[in-house]
Amino acid sequence: MRLANLAGRLVVITGDAGHEIACDVEKSSGGRFGASPQAIYDDWDAFTAWAGTVQWDSGIPLVPDDLGSPVPAPRQVLGIGLNYRDHAAESGFAAPAGEPPVFTKFPSCITGPRGDITLPGGGHTDWEVELVAVIGRRAERVSEADALSFVAGYSVGQDVSERILQLAATPPQFSLGKSLPGFGPIGPWLVTLDEFANPDDLGLECSVNGEQVQHGRTSDLIFSVSALVARVSATLPLLPGDVIFTGTPSGVGLDRKSV
Ligand code: ZN
Repeated sequence: MRLANLAGRLVVITGDAGHEIACDVEKSSGGRFGASPQAIYDDWDAFTAWAGTVQWDSGIPLVPDDLGSPVPAPRQVLGIGLNYRDHAAESGFAAPAGEPPVFTKFPSCITGPRGDITLPGGGHTDWEVELVAVIGRRAERVSEADALSFVAGYSVGQDVSERILQLAATPPQFSLGKSLPGFGPIGPWLVTLDEFANPDDLGLECSVNGEQVQHGRTSDLIFSVSALVARVSATLPLLPGDVIFTGTPSGVGLDRKSV
C-alpha cells in the first residue's frame, strides 16, 4: 500500500507511475478513519487491517503539486550520521563501529516532496538523499529481529544540511544546521514493507539540475533499519509516526569540488 498526503488529506495511492489515483481515506471509510495524514500512525494496526479489505476504486487523478509529506508532523525526527562506508570515507571519518551517530532534525523542518526551499546564503547547503523509516507502533526496547514489525513503511527524503551552521559550535551541533525551514522534505508517499521484494535492498538516487550526484543501495547501510530501531528504542521509546532519516550514501555537495 502507498499512502500520501494530498492537500492535507490522507489518501491511498493506486495506479501506475505517472497515472496515480488518490483515494480519500476518510470518505472511503465513512469517517472511521480521519483525514489527518499524521494521526493515522496512532491507529496503524486497525487502519492496515481495514485497508486490506477495501476495493480502492473511487479515487481521483493525482495532482503531484498538491502532495505534502506523508508524515507531516512527527513527534520525533532522528537522523543517522555516516551510515554508509563510502560517505564516511568521503567525509574524512572512520565508519562507525560500536554505535550509530544519532542527531535530531527538529520536526518543524518537515515538508513535502515538491516546492521551494529558501537556502541561507554562502553556498554551503548540501543535499543528502536518504531512506526514511516511519514508525507504526510504539517501540520500546525491541529486538532487532522484531524491529521491522514496528515500522509502518518507508519513504525517501532529503536531510538538507547547512554545513557552516552544522559545524559552527564546538563540539559540532548537527541539529540546527539540519533543521532550517523546509530542510526535511519527505515523499511522495509512504510505502508499506510488504510492497518490497526485499525491504533491506532498495536503490536511492539524487540528481541536481539533471546530473546524478548520488546513488546507493540500502543493503550497504552499516546499521540497518532493524538495527537502528532496536538501538534507538533501547534508549527512548519510538512513537507512532516518528521518522528516522537513515543516513546518506556518498556524493553529497560537501565533498564535491565544483558545485
Ligand atoms: Zn544525513
